[in-house]
Amino acid sequence: MRPTVLTALLALSLTACDKLPTRPKTAFNADSAWSYTQQQVNFGPRVPGTPAAAKAGDWIVAMMKQRADTVIEQRWVHRTAKGDSLPLRNILARFRPQATQRILYVTHWDTRPMADSDPVLGNRNTPILGANDGASGVGLFIALGDALKKTPPNVGVDLLFVDGEDYGASFNPPYVDVLLGSQYFATHLPTPDYKPMYGVLWDMIADKDLNVLQEVRSVNAAPEVVSRVWEKAKELGYSRYFISSVGQDVIDDHVPFIEHGMRVIDVIDYDYGPPAPNGGAEPNYHHTLGDTMEHISKQSLQIVGDVALALITQG
Ligand SMILES: [Zn+2]
Repeated sequence: MRPTVLTALLALSLTACDKLPTRPKTAFNADSAWSYTQQQVNFGPRVPGTPAAAKAGDWIVAMMKQRADTVIEQRWVHRTAKGDSLPLRNILARFRPQATQRILYVTHWDTRPMADSDPVLGNRNTPILGANDGASGVGLFIALGDALKKTPPNVGVDLLFVDGEDYGASFNPPYVDVLLGSQYFATHLPTPDYKPMYGVLWDMIADKDLNVLQEVRSVNAAPEVVSRVWEKAKELGYSRYFISSVGQDVIDDHVPFIEHGMRVIDVIDYDYGPPAPNGGAEPNYHHTLGDTMEHISKQSLQIVGDVALALITQG
């Protein structure tokens, strides 16, 4: 995932009164989400075609089979620009699969094979751990699975883990070796008439300094979905984290869905890292070896998990 236009980022400062509430707002359990995120990271980088990816994928399937009504795997082989054969796997966990009114949530579970934004040149060919970019969405979804198993939703819910989001070097059209799982799913739907009411992609949602701006393409393609998500965040008291301003234009897994006529938006905190120190450069852990557990936060998982679960359970 990468922004196509660099827009000015909001400088945010938290004041002493910006405290998280102590009472839970939903049944979403961030301790569990954190633990699932850690377990993904413990597999090591989840680069498609590696044994670690195979193990991590098997683990996601097993975890979702314990929670969802149905789990569908899509497996295929992608021919890369270099001519290599890349085995890929999407995992779709369905709750109330017969329900016609459905919500689709998407996250990618693969991690980038190279830390090409690392400040240290010598690190740029090393695969990333992807605590935020890859694992946090998985942690979020498995914990959502816990809540939906305990209290089945009134609508159908599809939790889609897509593979191969972050494999290739360039995110510009025609999307060479990136967004592979979302492109595959958008052209291989579970049923020919599959049409969720709306969808949300959750990507990089656990930064300690959580600030989710509205993504440009999402606002243009499905403004009513953006409003729905940001209104829900506001109702929950989270408007300082889900900021009602338009941020960057990001090429991410929502794009193939939009291109195939589905109303899917991207919830992403692209600005991964703490605010810039006085006079210093702002650290950004995105696509660096710094994308580790120490830079993500359980509180952020709670905030995003509350929004994601409330959208399903409270409409
Ligand atoms: Zn990425």
